[in-house]
Amino acid sequence: MPLHVIYERALRLVTVKVLIKKMMMQILPKSIGNLIDSFEKLPGIGPKSASRLTFYLLHVPQNMLDAFGQAVINLKKNTVYCSNCFNVGESDPCVICSDPGREEDVVCVVENPINILNLEKTGKFRGLYHVLHGVIDPLNNIGPDELKITELLARTRKGKIKELIIATNPNMEGEATAMYIKREIINQKENNPVIRRIDITRLANGLPIGADLEYADEITLSKAIEGRRVF
Ligand SMILES: [Zn+2]
Repeated sequence: MPLHVIYERALRLVTVKVLIKKMMMQILPKSIGNLIDSFEKLPGIGPKSASRLTFYLLHVPQNMLDAFGQAVINLKKNTVYCSNCFNVGESDPCVICSDPGREEDVVCVVENPINILNLEKTGKFRGLYHVLHGVIDPLNNIGPDELKITELLARTRKGKIKELIIATNPNMEGEATAMYIKREIINQKENNPVIRRIDITRLANGLPIGADLEYADEITLSKAIEGRRVF
């Protein structure tokens, strides 16, 4: 099929969808339409899920809706970013940075505050964190300056950190971000030899627990072979 025909059909489909949405919005009470619109702006929520959630909430008692609304209102009001690690918390510094029992010389770099929760659940890490608040993603105009990389480099210059675990996701953007941070730390050290040497590590890649070799993709399997350890 010629490209211009595909393009015209896609355009017609989008126009029809916009018209249907406009029509639905005219039929629906404003408060329902507004809530559907708000849900649709959330990541991973499409128009169908947005409608389902909104109509579900119509059956929820008013006091629970009030509590839900209040929780949304308080979300940003009662939280602050830690000025040391940029985790989100109720105080600055956050509970992790102000815990004297944590190892100050090991810092785990994560993409988002939720990753801290994931790692804390393991109970295996007793160091500190640094939240980047995203990854380098040129397609979405996110460069290093949009992330907390300058702040991370400033932390490494203080001389306390022995090991930096770069725990960004093992995808293209995560790997590119890890490479960028590694290069910046090496450059920093070359330009200022007084800065202590920092071991830069990445989380191991491999097979998930309970997985079957038969169903593992080639990339995961090759990473698992590379990352094998003495048993
Ligand atoms: Zn902190």
